[in-house]
Amino acid sequence: MLQPWKYLRGVDRGQFLLSLAGLHTAGAAMRMNALEGLLGVTRSSERMPVLFLGHGNPMNAIEENTFTAGFRAMAREIPRPQAILCVSAHWETRGTWVTAMERPRTIHDFSGFPKALYEVQYPAPGSPALAAETKDLLSDTSVGLDQRWGLDHGAWSVVKHLYPEADVPVVQLSLDRDMSAEQHYALARRLAPLRDKGVLVLGSGNLVHNLRLVAWDRLEETGYAYDWAQEARERMNTLILKGDHRALIDHRAQGPAFQLAIPTPEHYLPLMYALALKRNDEHAALFNDQAVAGSITMTSVVIRDA
Ligand code: ZN
Repeated sequence: MLQPWKYLRGVDRGQFLLSLAGLHTAGAAMRMNALEGLLGVTRSSERMPVLFLGHGNPMNAIEENTFTAGFRAMAREIPRPQAILCVSAHWETRGTWVTAMERPRTIHDFSGFPKALYEVQYPAPGSPALAAETKDLLSDTSVGLDQRWGLDHGAWSVVKHLYPEADVPVVQLSLDRDMSAEQHYALARRLAPLRDKGVLVLGSGNLVHNLRLVAWDRLEETGYAYDWAQEARERMNTLILKGDHRALIDHRAQGPAFQLAIPTPEHYLPLMYALALKRNDEHAALFNDQAVAGSITMTSVVIRDA
């Protein structure tokens, strides 16, 4: 007799039996209970805000500056999350993946920096339950449960400032490099229920990010922007604040300043995950809104109740 479930691993086997019984909904409910149990959550009536953080230079992880102060101030303003779902510019994949390990490693995905940066460990736990819940919410997309990635610097260099004790579980959702901005936006909208379950959805990138044109001689100087970077920053800010998501999704149609600001999309796309979760009764606000080194902006966005 064929017993295919013998070949499925533990968690999948239960799900397989449930699907045999036509109990998809029950399965989802069971996993939600597991998520609440693991995270110690009872359903919160308080909806979590959504963040997009400009992460910039990896050295921000260990420096104290106006940007790291801005991250810390924001963490004090918002409710403490039960877990974080982070979409980082630095995890691009084929297909969509979500980290599902209990103990994500700290990935030092950069080169040429001081030893002190490589010594940073950010031992926040993962959350297999949140990974499973995320996969469920994105059920119209094939989402892989990843056991190999961990926390890249797009995640840990900023989350470290928000929650220095590393006591909030962090899960990463990858950027499928074959998806358009519109597809990322559509996928992100499906994550909305997480906000009501104590999960902070956090995009980490940079809105203006052209490393090829960085003014290396003005690296230490906060506020210096090329004319095109300034133009792109001001226009992006206007569009974010007035909620014109269509224009932000269609970034390739916004002219030469945007094209210079977004030579490759990976640092911009995490913004889609914040915008897509904005409800009509919420407002977007900016912080850390400054340029660095001519061709990068640290502009960060919080979306929450007015
Ligand atoms: Zn980066």
